[in-house]
Amino acid sequence: MSARSSNGIGVKPIRRKGTGTITRAVRTGIATDTAYGSVVPPIYLSANYAFAAPGVPGRYDYSRTANPTRDQLADAIAGLEHGTGAVITASGMAAVMLATKLLSRGDLLLAPHDCYGGCHRLFLAESERVGFDVEFVDQRLPETVQLARERRPRIIWIETPSNPLLRVTDIEAWAKLAREIGAVSVVDNTFLSPANQLPLELGADLVVHSTTKLLNGHSDVVGGAVVARDPALLETLGWWSNCLGVAGAPFDAYLTLRGIRTLEARTRIHEANAFRVVETLCGHSVVERVHHPSLPGHPGHEIAMKQQSGWGSLVSVDLEGGRQAVDAFVSGLRYFTLAESLGGVESLITHPATMTHASMDEAAQRAAGIGEGLLRLSIGIEDVEDLVTDLEQALKRTEEFIYQRL
Ligand SMILES: *Cc1c(COP(=O)(O)O)cnc(C)c1O
Repeated sequence: MSARSSNGIGVKPIRRKGTGTITRAVRTGIATDTAYGSVVPPIYLSANYAFAAPGVPGRYDYSRTANPTRDQLADAIAGLEHGTGAVITASGMAAVMLATKLLSRGDLLLAPHDCYGGCHRLFLAESERVGFDVEFVDQRLPETVQLARERRPRIIWIETPSNPLLRVTDIEAWAKLAREIGAVSVVDNTFLSPANQLPLELGADLVVHSTTKLLNGHSDVVGGAVVARDPALLETLGWWSNCLGVAGAPFDAYLTLRGIRTLEARTRIHEANAFRVVETLCGHSVVERVHHPSLPGHPGHEIAMKQQSGWGSLVSVDLEGGRQAVDAFVSGLRYFTLAESLGGVESLITHPATMTHASMDEAAQRAAGIGEGLLRLSIGIEDVEDLVTDLEQALKRTEEFIYQRL
């Protein structure tokens, strides 16, 4: 069923056909302008809209509540995720916050122990303030399933693949359990995007996105989205968005729409390039371990093959030689910018222990498997030969550095 990649290392999952994803993404809002017939949809920056008479608004009245450009992005993302609709927010964290508005005092939120750091911080702070409980658990363990049955959480939060080790959680199994015990299942789909994973099709209730990452894909917008299947849930989330004023700006929505048109094309290049990077890193003398779900030795490989239709842009690697080896490796890279974030057209490299996960103390980092030698690479869409050459010379330099030290 599965095809081996040319290098005989990684395995490619089956790309689902016929979901209309590519066409839908490319044609988002194209030729819908009724005023002048512009091919690309216009951007509506207006904060307010004229009423026909006192108490008689048109379709729009005020842009915090609703805006045509933002609505177009909501339709596009909801379509890609196979949802009923979406709420577009000013950041990924605003989208996460909206989802937590479904929690009341005394409710339980079951969240992964290795969820995005910003989610960890928000869940803790809000649980203390609002009075809901939060448990951070390893969702791969059978005892966590037992805990969920006993404690009956209101929300089961899933983030897969996880950051930075790309651990994989079974969405279908957890969504089914959520349904049985009356919980709402929420999947943070930021790391793969709908081009590679469709949580609502696997039974989840809500999908959350940081559109800052793959959906916009050009590292020039911070934004978020929540997609729902159930219209009542969607209405509640939309009500909170208007109440709190966390909606995304029209210009950001316009740019994100522009990014979404190339989502499928970018996805294929990200993935092909990431495969070559995995191949380059695997087996090198200074590489202790490569973390990538395409590798049959990766603990989440089988589940990933079942629920993903691709691997996305991330590769993590543990280098021998600890922090100094990391410095030697990173300092001479030409095409990998040392920066946080991911999913843009440009390649990035992050040192989780001192950057994205610096807020975790050493014990928490160790428990999460984040060591001094760990690096996370977001593979861009540059010429893969340039990326490979760059990595090879950095590996060689690191090898020389370690050799000299011995
Ligand atoms: C970046 C990120 C977020 C937060 O999104 P922002 O747009 O930075 O607010 C949430 N979840 C995941 C998995 C992310 O990578």
